[in-house]
Amino acid sequence: MSTIGDNYLEVKKRVEQAALRCGRDPKEITLVAVSKTKGVEEIRQAVEAGAHILGENKVQEIQAKYDELPGVEWHLIGHLQTNKVKYIVDKVKMIHSLDSLKLAQEIDRRCAAAGVAMDVLVEVNIGGEESKSGVAPEEAEVLCLEAAKLPNIRVKGLMTVAPVVENPQDARVYFRKMNKLFVDIKAKNYDNIDMAYLSMGMTHDFEVAIEEGANIVRVGTAIFGARNYAV
Ligand SMILES: *Cc1c(COP(=O)(O)O)cnc(C)c1O
Repeated sequence: MSTIGDNYLEVKKRVEQAALRCGRDPKEITLVAVSKTKGVEEIRQAVEAGAHILGENKVQEIQAKYDELPGVEWHLIGHLQTNKVKYIVDKVKMIHSLDSLKLAQEIDRRCAAAGVAMDVLVEVNIGGEESKSGVAPEEAEVLCLEAAKLPNIRVKGLMTVAPVVENPQDARVYFRKMNKLFVDIKAKNYDNIDMAYLSMGMTHDFEVAIEEGANIVRVGTAIFGARNYAV
């Protein structure tokens, strides 16, 4: 059986190969190892293999693991409730899941109090799915602009979770739409908006996402194995 360290290296290699296949520099693609539901010992194996950016979708999990894993960078990738913002502004480097102005205002307020600035990505519900968070594609630009007015927020790009499809090729259309949205906003060169990152692609579809322009991929299962939500 392969170890978590082996899995991490294998995913890293697949990311690089996908980049090279489409003529991109592998160095421009960031791999976020999604460690949700996984324990510190498992996560440490990935860190020892080279993972230095960890993604979690729950505030409580970051709080629980933070002190045990010094020196890594944490990204919050799941839906964030305004009442939990205060617990993580001093712990995470980037919030991928900005989905309302109200949340942006709370992040700004808590960052001001903590004396930090936060990198954020606006989450887009590209498939228009009822079950998913994120703003509608046509609302993304306005949220970027509104968030960019807040002094302690740095708008850094867009994020999406594509609809679940059996064949990863079927996710391509969504990634392509995201990339178009990203490129369109970037081309406008708005003040205080640095369209640097397009975060999309997970275990099932990260290679297709890279082919369509992702420069952050968030991979959990392929590194850590299946999640057990019952524990
Ligand atoms: C869980 C999760 C991932 C990783 O999913 P895998 O399919 O396990 O790679 C990526 N992004 C978000 C927002 C997630 O919640």
